[in-house]
Amino acid sequence: MKQVVCLKVTPKIEQLKFDEVKKTMIRDGVENEINEADKNALEISLSLKDKLGGQVVVLSMGPPSFDPYLKLAIAMGADDAILLSDRAFAGADTYSTSLVLATAVKKISDFGLVFCSEASSDGSTEQVPPSIAAWLGVPLISYVGSMSVNDGKVQAKRIIRGGYEVIETNLPTLVSVELGCNTPRFPDFRRKRWAEREFKTTVWGINDLGLSPNDVGLEGSLTSVNELRHMRSPQRKKEFLTGEPKQVAAKLAEIIRSTV
Ligand SMILES: Cc1cc2nc3c(=O)[nH]c(=O)nc-3n(C[C@H](O)[C@H](O)[C@H](O)COP(=O)(O)OP(=O)(O)OC[C@H]3O[C@@H](n4cnc5c(N)ncnc54)[C@H](O)[C@@H]3O)c2cc1C
Repeated sequence: MKQVVCLKVTPKIEQLKFDEVKKTMIRDGVENEINEADKNALEISLSLKDKLGGQVVVLSMGPPSFDPYLKLAIAMGADDAILLSDRAFAGADTYSTSLVLATAVKKISDFGLVFCSEASSDGSTEQVPPSIAAWLGVPLISYVGSMSVNDGKVQAKRIIRGGYEVIETNLPTLVSVELGCNTPRFPDFRRKRWAEREFKTTVWGINDLGLSPNDVGLEGSLTSVNELRHMRSPQRKKEFLTGEPKQVAAKLAEIIRSTV
């Protein structure tokens, strides 16, 4: 079975900065990493490959500077890497991002599972996984914590508040994975050296995907950012209660009663 894992390369969360004039994220001069939850998705995919065999292909849309992150995924155990990189893709919203990713998945062909994570750490709209599933016309199981594949059927635990649901569907399907649901494996040292020196990432541009400039990037986007606002954390009221435990408990009960 061929599995495709969508990996987004994102700025390290503590380095997120915005251009207040252009209303875009500043991506130059910041350190990047593979979106943390995408590593959880890759781990699920590689574990399935360990059991079932097949091939894991990692896929990312972004500039050529993302190549080392795809090679890191190769060092973790992925078999192939495709970078979707073209100036025409710049400025894409989630609509055109998902179109480009889905078109590449179709070109990869013969896929059984497509993985994303639930959300990126920068844009965090959670729109890309359901949009890719819609473009591909396959079912989506979201917020997955663990899963298995038997006889062409996928069974996945979908995390919900206070528990989980068990969802079953047929292949092919798209799975979006919950942040922190597993511990991603470390890159293999020898494979890392090999990937850095010898592995060649496949790069596809707009012509390789047969898309029109009107469908991709800023041109193909249906949404625009009109305003950026700083969200301030709410100021929390702090009060320390001191005294004997019984007195403190009575005072606490009084405070709680007065706020209900
Ligand atoms: C009007 C507009 C203009 C924008 N312009 C730019 C711009 O100029 N430059 C820019 O970098 N961003 C730009 N963005 C942001 C860009 O649209 C998002 O980065 C992208 O669509 C992914 O959305 P998200 O981060 O909310 O993904 P989510 O839906 O939160 O991501 C979920 C998962 O989808 C997968 N995924 C998402 N994006 C990718 C990707 N690129 N490659 C592989 N897998 C992926 C990953 O598995 C990820 O974990 C713009 C957004 C808007 C609305």
